[in-house]
Amino acid sequence: MSASMREDKAARSQSLDAQRRAEGASADLALLRRQVAELESVVEAMWFLLRQLAPQTPEHAKLADEVERRLASYAEIADRRAGVCKECGRKVSLLAGRCLYCSPDVS
Ligand SMILES: [Zn+2]
Repeated sequence: MSASMREDKAARSQSLDAQRRAEGASADLALLRRQVAELESVVEAMWFLLRQLAPQTPEHAKLADEVERRLASYAEIADRRAGVCKECGRKVSLLAGRCLYCSPDVS
């Protein structure tokens, strides 16, 4: 096999590999979107029930404050747990454990 044939073969193999990773990332994204949509409807249902059970009470306001506090705290934790991909330099979540764009490893 000539050098250029070997290069062609290596390039095809890299291309297929990149395609597989892209497909995997798309599937992960679709799953995450569905999970977020499900969680949104659960949260909406809970807020709906809460308004029915305890309309405009001080507890209602306290709960809203608590939700805000937790969201802010989660954003801070997520930021602290972010790493940088060794391959592409993109910021990636260490919770995910791998770069969605290019690499199975995160530094
Ligand atoms: Zn990467």
